[in-house]
Amino acid sequence: MNPLDILRTQGLGLLAAIREAGDSDLLRATFSASQLVRYRRAAEMLHRAPLARQRLAQASLERILVITKHARGLRHGDRYALLAELALLDGSIDDIDLKARDIVRARNAGNGPNLGRRAVRGGKTTDTNGNRTFTVTGPERDIKRLLSTLDARARSLRAQDTALTYEQAMYDALMTSTGPAPYSLMPQVIIPLPDWLRLRSHDGDETIFAATDGTTVTGAELVSGLMADDHVAVLYEPLVGPVNAYRAQRHANSKQRLIIEGRDLMCQWPGCTTPATECQMHHVTAWKHGGNTNLDGLVALCRKHNGRNDDSPDRPPRNGRIDIGDDGSVYWSRGDTVRRNNHPLLDKSGRAVAKRVPQ
Ligand SMILES: [Zn+2]
Repeated sequence: MNPLDILRTQGLGLLAAIREAGDSDLLRATFSASQLVRYRRAAEMLHRAPLARQRLAQASLERILVITKHARGLRHGDRYALLAELALLDGSIDDIDLKARDIVRARNAGNGPNLGRRAVRGGKTTDTNGNRTFTVTGPERDIKRLLSTLDARARSLRAQDTALTYEQAMYDALMTSTGPAPYSLMPQVIIPLPDWLRLRSHDGDETIFAATDGTTVTGAELVSGLMADDHVAVLYEPLVGPVNAYRAQRHANSKQRLIIEGRDLMCQWPGCTTPATECQMHHVTAWKHGGNTNLDGLVALCRKHNGRNDDSPDRPPRNGRIDIGDDGSVYWSRGDTVRRNNHPLLDKSGRAVAKRVPQ
């Protein structure tokens, strides 16, 4: 069978195989994390829908993904029956997408917009152009009203500057209407000691430093004092004395937080990008199991991953747990699987800097 035929007809088999494979390195080497989330959701749904499975026996992967996505959007009633119904739709993938959306919208009509799904998402990852993207989801009327307001402003901006594209003008309109939010947290910039010495002799303008809010700062920006108002520059060297509270307090104090934010830079769970300033301070040995509130026993984890962590090492593993190895590095493990957060920015964390400086 040629590869196109496989994609065109073997969607169901592919999803079943992905479901069977569970959490494997092979899958992670083949698909992105977000693809796997989509595939697994669809596979789980089909697993419970025998009639839909029968009708989709020769369907493409994309067709299955499109109709399972819409069937999941049904707010009241039998999603599996609806899935079997949507499995009968034919035409191009884009046609099926539109038809399925209409069918499910009609079933959901009368319930009003689902306010529970309102969200602003993303904005955490910087692209190759140094930009970030976020998406806004909300009731159509709210979004329409917001865009109309921006549209009016964007038109007047374009009248003043004909070189502006519509999209650029919409962005400018959004930014001038909300303005940059003042930082409520003060991010630290992590500067290894040797780099600091180079910066002082103006030899390090191109060096990129990481900040605890997940952004980066160049040496030139630091030297010119651009960041002085809203960043604290922290010289990171390994001889930070212990700031330990043992059992005196359950929660990390502000000094501990500051040090751990610089040391860990972001949530230490594999694949997570939540900056440390938005993280919780996780006890590697749970407080209820006698863990101390000490620097070496605390790790930055976002709210979600702090909640997912298997706190009891004696129970059978579920989501896996965070531990600290003998070499001081943080790792996640579940059974025999060991993974780390390999985000490139972590090379600039205080933990990485401390490791590089010869002791
Ligand atoms: Zn996380």
